Amino acid sequence: MTTTPTIELKPSSAPLSDAEREAILANPGFGRHFTDHMVTIKWTEGRGWHDAELTPYAPLSMDPANMTLHYAQEIFEGLKAYRRPDGTVSLFRPESNAERFQLSARRLAMPELPVETFVAACDALVRQDIDWVPEHGGESSLYLRPFMIANEVGLGVKPANEYLFIVIASPAGAYFPGGVRPVSIWLSEDRVRAVPGGIGFAKTGGNYAASLLAQAEAAEKGCDQVAYLDAVEHKWVEELGGMNLYFVYGDRIVTPELTGSLLAGITRDSLLRLAEDLGYTAEEGRLTIDDWRRDSENGTLTEVFACGTAAVITPVGLVKSRDGEWTQSDGKPGEVTLRLRKALLDIQTGAAEDVHGWTHHL
Ligand code: PMP
Repeated sequence: MTTTPTIELKPSSAPLSDAEREAILANPGFGRHFTDHMVTIKWTEGRGWHDAELTPYAPLSMDPANMTLHYAQEIFEGLKAYRRPDGTVSLFRPESNAERFQLSARRLAMPELPVETFVAACDALVRQDIDWVPEHGGESSLYLRPFMIANEVGLGVKPANEYLFIVIASPAGAYFPGGVRPVSIWLSEDRVRAVPGGIGFAKTGGNYAASLLAQAEAAEKGCDQVAYLDAVEHKWVEELGGMNLYFVYGDRIVTPELTGSLLAGITRDSLLRLAEDLGYTAEEGRLTIDDWRRDSENGTLTEVFACGTAAVITPVGLVKSRDGEWTQSDGKPGEVTLRLRKALLDIQTGAAEDVHGWTHHL
């Protein structure tokens, strides 16, 4: 059923004071603080979506036999609300997140939330907690986390007959408060994140659970992030644990094609189009770890960067693998990387005109 329920406001019990909120916004970090409200919408078999509510942010009460806790039928999204120079607030491509949420839902055998309901839920929460959207400038934003869990109680592996969709929000500070800095990468040649025919293209908790051990190993090697390879030949570069990758060959930028085991990032897609606006050639392709190392060492690969909602664009510097290590671009952020980063951030924050219609005004 695809009915769109109206979101009903249940007044806040005790929101934080202005002073408390301002203190958090002065140094929000990422994912540490949450705003005063949340949106919840229920789905029940035979009834569809119902009981859409905007309520005070509060813990969920959950039966220990809730199916999500056992079989991980869960999906999520991540997008940002930005304060514009004129003080208004906009979201970046929320419809694309809504469509990816539907794709994830289909793969996890969950009901699809209509795109307009997803966007309306995000809008309602941001409107209610608008004072939590940081000031324009300085790269801060309000991160929105829509997610859906199974809400049936009982053991037994099957799609649940009840679900709960929730949107929460968390202020996010600048990813690089001290200026853009390249990250170091550990190439995971043994541990895979996702397999062909699996759930890699869906934004679901299981993919992140599968990445944690490799991430811990990367940290042991002194690296910030893990780059995953394909699960069959263990040589094709796919993506990082939470970001897509781009390889810059002079004026040509290349990102690994969507094989089904990597996430179709919305930043990745935006950059494919934005790069062309800036006069670069942008394409999807295939690249092995040997190509990466050789082209980096012979200088034809001029820059490498990662991209995603949280960091927008992150340059890649040191790359480590079990066969040794190399450093991209002398470990400095490249010119193309920084130019694309600024162009995208300017559109997201309203500092530049958006010719693509990506901006969703509240
Ligand atoms: N890959 C993975 C595995 C991710 O978790 C993310 C973050 N959503 C991305 C790529 C980047 O996607 P987006 O640009 O939509 O944030």
